[in-house]
Formats: sequence, structure tokens, C-alpha cells
Amino acid sequence: MRKVILSIECLLIMAITIPAGGVFAQTSEGSQALTPHQKLARDIFQELIEINTTLNAGSTKAAEAMAARLRTAGFPESDIYLVGPQPQHMNLVVRYRGTGARRPILFICHLDVVEALRQDWSFDPFTFLERDGYFYGRGTTDIKNEDADLVATLIRLKQERFTPDRDIIVALTEDEENGDANGVQWLIKERRDLIDAEFCINPDGGGGELKNGRRTVMEVQTSEKVYSDYRLEVKNKGRPSTRPLLRGWRTLPHTTTPS
Ligand SMILES: [Zn+2]
Repeated sequence: MRKVILSIECLLIMAITIPAGGVFAQTSEGSQALTPHQKLARDIFQELIEINTTLNAGSTKAAEAMAARLRTAGFPESDIYLVGPQPQHMNLVVRYRGTGARRPILFICHLDVVEALRQDWSFDPFTFLERDGYFYGRGTTDIKNEDADLVATLIRLKQERFTPDRDIIVALTEDEENGDANGVQWLIKERRDLIDAEFCINPDGGGGELKNGRRTVMEVQTSEKVYSDYRLEVKNKGRPSTRPLLRGWRTLPHTTTPS
């Protein structure tokens, strides 16, 4: 797992609400150049990184902290749910009300992180660190950056009195990495009413990267921890650098296909 974040942002979220340049874009000016909304997102990001949400600690404190931010921003208590199977393993579900013209959209993102032992790190992994345009700390790329994006975006939408044509539901969940309190599974089984939606977007399944404000990579994850075959046909201009790294592939002048 990478411990360094470079210009990470959920482009799907950004496409909806966040101006180009992004909340976590790398900038030579550092945090001084952030807009108020970007600063809010950075503050939330820092708060999340500095709350230990490993399996033993649980994610409830982080869920409560995000709930508090949403309450302060004006979300009614009736649209904020802290639910889960055990006191230390609670999930946060928040609903941003739309007109109801269409069925809700759901964003899921986990709050828990894998274990981080102090002796394995050159600094405290639960201290948020920004240095030379990089963010350091457990969870910076998996996936508290996106948690922060989602919460900051909801707050921004509220501040701007935006009214979508569908409810926007955000579920920040527990035990995605390991443990027996998997938040998504629990919500589906026990509180489907809270998360029922027409679409679900999981920023952990990919996302965009920016470098110096330029879009460089869009990752799309199609499966995890299961066997899966794919057939890809990729067209390019046939430069030498396009030679595939995967064994068993061959490069044609204008097309790359599996052999
Ligand atoms: Zn993850």
C-alpha cells in the first residue's frame, strides 16, 4: 500500500461540485493557496487521518466526528444516522435531500484503515503530515482522502443551497479492510432503507490523479480478491513506450491486444 498521496481526487465527485484543480491537488504554494472549501476539505482530511480507525480501535470516533461536522453545517439530526452492529464499529449514513424527482444516488467509502505499526514508519502514521506537496499518514490514499471529499462536498452543497433532483446518500463505513463488522454488508442486511438507491459510486474502486493541475491517470477497478479474466483492445499511436508490461501480450503498430 502506498503511504504517499500525490494529487489524489475523486473525479466523479469533482465533476459534480469541486472546481478543476481539486481539493488535494499538489500545489507548490501549499495550503496557503487553498480556497475556503479546499481548506475545509483539508481540515476534514487531517481530522480523519489523526483518528486511529484500525480494526482494534474501530471507526466510531471518525463516524461521530463527521456527523458533528454535518450537524454544524446544518444537516438535521433526522438525516444523520450512526448505525452498526457494535458500539466501536458504527457506520455513518447521511442523506442530502433532493426534490425526489429521481431515485437517490449512493456514495460509499470506508473509514477504517489497515494496521500501521509505529516501528514500521519513519513518523507517527496517525499524524497528518504535508511535506513538499505530498500528504503522509495512514489512510491518505485508502481512503480518507475520499471520505474528506465526500463530507466537504456535502457541506459545500448545503452552504450553496443546492437542490439536486435526487437524494444524495453518503455512507462512511466500517471494517472494509478486515474484521467482522463490514459496514456495507451490515447496512444491506439490516438498514437497506437507509441506503436504497438507483446508483452506487465507490471512490475506492478507482479515481483520478492530478499532477500540477493536469489530469494524468484515471483508475478503474473492476474486481478484487477474486479471479477475473479480461480482454482489452487499446488503440494508440504505436510509440515504443506503449509496449505492454504484461507477459503474453503483443504490440501491434496501432493496436494492443492480448495474444
Ligand atoms: Zn480501501
